[in-house]
Amino acid sequence: MKAICIHEFGGPEVLRYEDVADPQFRKDQVLVRVKACAMNHLDIWVRKGLPGVKLPHILGSDIAGEIAEVGEYVTGFKVGQRVLLAPMHFCNRCAKCSAGLQNQCREFTVLGNLVDGGNCELIATPAVNVIPIPDSLDFNQAASVPLVFLTAWHMLVGRAGVCPGQTVLVLGANSGVGIAGIQIAKFFNCRVITTAGDDRKIAKARELGADHIINHYKQKISEEVRNITNKEGVDIVLEHVGPATWEESVKSLKPAGTLVTCGATTGPQVGIDLRFVYSRQLSLLGSYMGTMGELHEVLKHVFNGTLKPVVDKTFPLAETRQAHEYMEKSQMFGKIVLNP
Ligand SMILES: [Zn+2]
Repeated sequence: MKAICIHEFGGPEVLRYEDVADPQFRKDQVLVRVKACAMNHLDIWVRKGLPGVKLPHILGSDIAGEIAEVGEYVTGFKVGQRVLLAPMHFCNRCAKCSAGLQNQCREFTVLGNLVDGGNCELIATPAVNVIPIPDSLDFNQAASVPLVFLTAWHMLVGRAGVCPGQTVLVLGANSGVGIAGIQIAKFFNCRVITTAGDDRKIAKARELGADHIINHYKQKISEEVRNITNKEGVDIVLEHVGPATWEESVKSLKPAGTLVTCGATTGPQVGIDLRFVYSRQLSLLGSYMGTMGELHEVLKHVFNGTLKPVVDKTFPLAETRQAHEYMEKSQMFGKIVLNP
């Protein structure tokens, strides 16, 4: 099959479109023909080099496609069925997995991180990862859903315990997690404040339902949050940006507010003023992907049309290098999707 493989870490030039062996397909697995694979910032981190990634490696976490073959021991699926894949790998037998806490499994990793992903034509996967999709979603839309909607759902619902009527600050309206976070917070009848860098992104954030949009290039986030909330601050900040916004995010919280973070797009190191954390009784929470139960829960709301994926641009798989260059310019609003 054709695949995008990396044989070394580095810039977009290390992405090679080449012939690789078809995946080993076990009797307890499903073989899926990849029709669309959406990009995430993780693709860029892995390409640049993350600990534990074995080379050569195939990137890509968010996969939608058609079932090409069903293993002898698998029931409930048929060839040709349209599906998406849960974007994660877990052992499915440890105490955590058995308790439905797959993202705490010792073997847990994201597809395309420590295991080969979907920037290719065929992928063999355990049946537990295979989820049928409705006809209302095309493959590009379906591939745009799993990682970011699961991540945002786990952050807001699983970790921060969002309640109706709260005020939520969602950083980066144009990012995948931002797009999902705005919609999920509105789904819980929250007031949503978000940030965007230009008029086009501001208009799109408003279309998604954001109540207030801060232009983070022209306005100071925490000052605007104070104005919008009558000096109160927000209940929850959904962070994934890192050092570029961290201080503003912490300052935007109301007393006993919760900051939940799932990423570090602008770098891994931030400062914390402990006096601020204890005197204001802040909660700083980490969040990583989510559970299979949460994935099924959030997909229910995507499949019935309440939560909507946003596709920015598609590229043929052979042009993955251009897709990476495009992503690194951060001009997108929504997902970048590769088509094998
Ligand atoms: Zn496990």
